[in-house]
Amino acid sequence: MAIVVQKYGGSSVANADKIRNVATRVSESFKKGNKVVVVVSAMGDTTDDLIELAGKINPNPEPREMDLLLSTGEIVSSTLLSMALHAMGFRAIALSGPQAGISTDSAFSRARITGIEPKRIVNELKKGNIVIVAGFQGLTSDNDIATLGRGGSDTTAVALAASLKAKICEIYTDVDGVYTADPRIVPEAQKLNEIGYEEMLEMATSGARVMHHRSVELGQVFKMPILVASSLADRPGTMIRGGKNMEQRNKVRGIAHDMDVAKITVTGVPDRPGIAAAIFMPLAKAGISVDTIVQNAGANNITDLTFTVTKNDLNRAMDIIRPVATEIGAKECLSDSRLGKVSIIGTGMQNTPGYAAKMFQTLFTQNINILLITTSEIRITCIIAEDKVKEAVRTLHKAFDLDKD
Ligand code: ADP
Ligand code: ASP
Ligand code: MG
Repeated sequence: MAIVVQKYGGSSVANADKIRNVATRVSESFKKGNKVVVVVSAMGDTTDDLIELAGKINPNPEPREMDLLLSTGEIVSSTLLSMALHAMGFRAIALSGPQAGISTDSAFSRARITGIEPKRIVNELKKGNIVIVAGFQGLTSDNDIATLGRGGSDTTAVALAASLKAKICEIYTDVDGVYTADPRIVPEAQKLNEIGYEEMLEMATSGARVMHHRSVELGQVFKMPILVASSLADRPGTMIRGGKNMEQRNKVRGIAHDMDVAKITVTGVPDRPGIAAAIFMPLAKAGISVDTIVQNAGANNITDLTFTVTKNDLNRAMDIIRPVATEIGAKECLSDSRLGKVSIIGTGMQNTPGYAAKMFQTLFTQNINILLITTSEIRITCIIAEDKVKEAVRTLHKAFDLDKD
């Protein structure tokens, strides 16, 4: 009997009716003869609500307590789904991340899965149970609960699928699949029938939150086929898998955007070896991930260094950088938190000139100022003002003919 892992996101389990709908869908897969493992997110906006509540009690909560608090959201939805299945006459058992054998490192709020011991799940499946696992969490070596970062239940699902050697990992959400751009911003966006891991990874890392980027990375490493589909409708979704897509070469596959960008510029930085390390080491130690980095070619041995972080990390990053800047003799630290980024993605861009020029020209025609540019082999990203991001996504979508089949 094949193992199938299904994951249902927060909006798919937002209330009792929706949980019953999920239970019905899960039971259908079980009735087809599959061994079913289900991963759930917290109900609706539970995680946001818990973060807000904690903030009212303590503006700087301890990361350990915060993770323990947030992990409860997924425990609520997993137990309720199990109860819904019981009410329908099915055998099911809910397990927290630790009970499911998921181990993580101790980087609270952004923990990585370090291993899975699937014995308990395998035993429960053997007993004929449908196994419901609380997403987004695992146990550290100190026996603390750590969470995997926002959107992390996708990663729980793909990691479990890999560890159980499932035939497929199905991600059910509130859209029909992966689109050429966020369908909430571009109504003409087209659903993709399939997309390779490489392109999906760039989309997810560039802000397409339909899949947690680390889940795509795991899918690629373990060659796990991932289906993204609607938890409500029975329409075909998007298959994420390996292999080249012959027809889509020479084409942009999708536009991704991210509103969560803040920029720090350190001006008047002495241009000598070791300076970049002096600035970025303390940020790395504090667990702040830096995205785009641009260093201007210096004149008179003085240069400016600009980099981006998430808005959430901006204040902490500035607190770390200010004393470092003084120490190295830099002039000043400036910041801007009202930024976003827009990216065009496609393996078809590899070794083909013209995409960057077309992207810049398109943004120029809309009078959108580009502040920073970064590229990978299959992606071009422009950092722009946050209030221009939606317009940029729509115009680029049209300019690269993504609204046509
Ligand atoms: P879940 O709660 O099921 O994990 P998410 O809210 O995390 O769902 O992800 C689904 C959302 O991702 C969609 O509602 C959509 O607005 C957004 N999204 C962003 N980019 C894309 C894209 N390229 N294709 C589909 N959805 C996208
Ligand atoms: N509940 C968590 C969040 O809102 C994890 C998830 O939904 O995947 O980020
Ligand atoms: Mg999600």
